[in-house]
Amino acid sequence: MELACLDLEGVLIPEIWIKFAEKTGIEALKATTRDIPDYDELMTMRLAELDKHKLGLNEIQEVISTLSPLDGAVEFVDWLRARFQVIILSDTFYEFAGPLMKQLGYPTLLCHKLTVDGSGRVTDYNIRQSNPKRQSIVALKSLYYRTIAAGDSYNDTTMLAEADAGILFKAPQNVITEFPQYPAVHTYEDLKQEFIKASVRPLTL
Ligand SMILES: [Mg+2]
Repeated sequence: MELACLDLEGVLIPEIWIKFAEKTGIEALKATTRDIPDYDELMTMRLAELDKHKLGLNEIQEVISTLSPLDGAVEFVDWLRARFQVIILSDTFYEFAGPLMKQLGYPTLLCHKLTVDGSGRVTDYNIRQSNPKRQSIVALKSLYYRTIAAGDSYNDTTMLAEADAGILFKAPQNVITEFPQYPAVHTYEDLKQEFIKASVRPLTL
């Protein structure tokens, strides 16, 4: 059997922090792993900004409750789940992802957890393990699954490298240029074609 491993933000749903930054007007929160590849550096900055503006989980969840998956994402996930076992490998947090995962039909999600105090202040973040996307692929391969992975950003590239096949989806030009070894597509229709090409089974649209 083959597994399809997908990044979440930028692939199936909008970037949560960018949406939150737009809503609150906090410019610094617009940075993502596309801008700051070091995830710890990025998260430390985000938590400091939240504190500075006295914002917490409740305010973030309020914004998330207004979000929907990207256009075509629900149909794409349905298509993929009929042909592969689908696992989402994300650097988001379970506290953020819930409402959006419901809209996607609750595919399996491996991500991180926040530590939040009684007042809703985000006091810490708990990374599941270091290099989590790559390590997940390593683990799945140890179960003798063939893996095909797709993502949009720097934090996906070790996952793409470890997988049997990697695909860039909706990646910015700097990532596409830096990682020319992966096919790069921008629509779900083209992404379906790449999964079909990467599969060892005779799949059809
Ligand atoms: Mg992403």
